[in-house]
Amino acid sequence: MYVHYGMGHQGFFYRAMKGKNMSSVSSIEALRFDESITPLPRPTVPEVEAILGVPIPVLDHGFVRLIDYMGNDAAIVQAARVSYGAGTKKVSEDKALIRYLLRHKHTSPFEMVEVKLHIKAPIFVARQWVRHRTASANEISGRYSILSDEMYLPDDTQVSFQSSDNKQGRSTNEVPDAVRERVRELLLTGQRESYAAYQELIDAEIARELARVALPVSVYTEWYWKMNLHNLFHFLALRTDAHAQFEIRIFAEAICLIVQRLAPVAYGAFIDYARDATHLSAPERQIVVRALRGEPLAPSDWAGIGKRERAEFARKFGLDPTNLPGYAPVSATPPTPAPAPMLNGNGHEGHD
Ligand SMILES: Cc1cc2nc3c(=O)[nH]c(=O)nc-3n(C[C@H](O)[C@H](O)[C@H](O)COP(=O)(O)OP(=O)(O)OC[C@H]3O[C@@H](n4cnc5c(N)ncnc54)[C@H](O)[C@@H]3O)c2cc1C
Repeated sequence: MYVHYGMGHQGFFYRAMKGKNMSSVSSIEALRFDESITPLPRPTVPEVEAILGVPIPVLDHGFVRLIDYMGNDAAIVQAARVSYGAGTKKVSEDKALIRYLLRHKHTSPFEMVEVKLHIKAPIFVARQWVRHRTASANEISGRYSILSDEMYLPDDTQVSFQSSDNKQGRSTNEVPDAVRERVRELLLTGQRESYAAYQELIDAEIARELARVALPVSVYTEWYWKMNLHNLFHFLALRTDAHAQFEIRIFAEAICLIVQRLAPVAYGAFIDYARDATHLSAPERQIVVRALRGEPLAPSDWAGIGKRERAEFARKFGLDPTNLPGYAPVSATPPTPAPAPMLNGNGHEGHD
């Protein structure tokens, strides 16, 4: 699957041109195709051709499907090598190049790959989705079309209490069955009433753009969405993260299935160097360096890291935030808190 007409495209062009002199054109009227050159075959990925237009069902009425694509792993390699016109390299070298490019944030080769998706999701998901501005989108018009009565009803497993430590999240506390049932019943009743009002307004020939005001954000909408792979990786990193709302996260995971088929090497590099990678602040890095050198950590090492950051640091390394090596709460710290010099010379104040 890997290199389908990757750099081959370029080599193909130069071979076709060998021994030929391109005619010189100095007037606009004389512009025409040089039909003596054999057209390039369109680069395709058989594994992706097999799923073109095939939906991945998501939630109760939604889906994601790939409408079209341009490029694959080979297009990334091709773009990266175009500057010096090199021919196709060994697959292992291509893989190393893609991983190098992603690791070092060379973004433009990844912009050579494009995907066009068709998405059907609840409006509240679409609302979060369109915050990602580096895409082209076209959405069904509720001014023009009559919207269907398909609305998202969370299933039992998704009914959760509000999280107490994350204002934007769900608690993992058990929800009694009776509460789950009541939640679904209330949501369903509201949806049915809303749609009945919408239907009544439509039947009374009230303008569709006004009638839709009756509908809730759980109603499904559809849009086409085109994005290049660089920006898509950014979207996927943010929306497959555990902090993203489940209802958009599951769509992002569905897109991962598509990208994995289209550009498996780039996708693997994205997982390793971006999505599942860990960013360290300078004070965090200093702590890790000291620990790796086998130096004991002292409260002063933690001086530049606030409570929240400490908890985040602990999560990055699977540590207990209340029992970090060398850290002692302020009350238990002896009154000589002169912070040790940071590796980068900065003594940051932590923000909680
Ligand atoms: C878990 C989570 C919670 C969120 N909560 C909230 C919330 O409570 N409220 C809220 O309003 N939003 C919220 N957002 C949306 C978030 O703030 C971003 O708007 C969204 O994730 C899009 O990210 P982006 O701008 O990086 O992506 P894109 O719009 O795709 O942009 C990609 C990159 O292009 C550059 N770029 C694009 N446009 C501009 C520009 N105009 N100026 C400068 N650089 C630009 C930036 O470098 C940007 O990172 C949340 C997002 C997530 C993932």
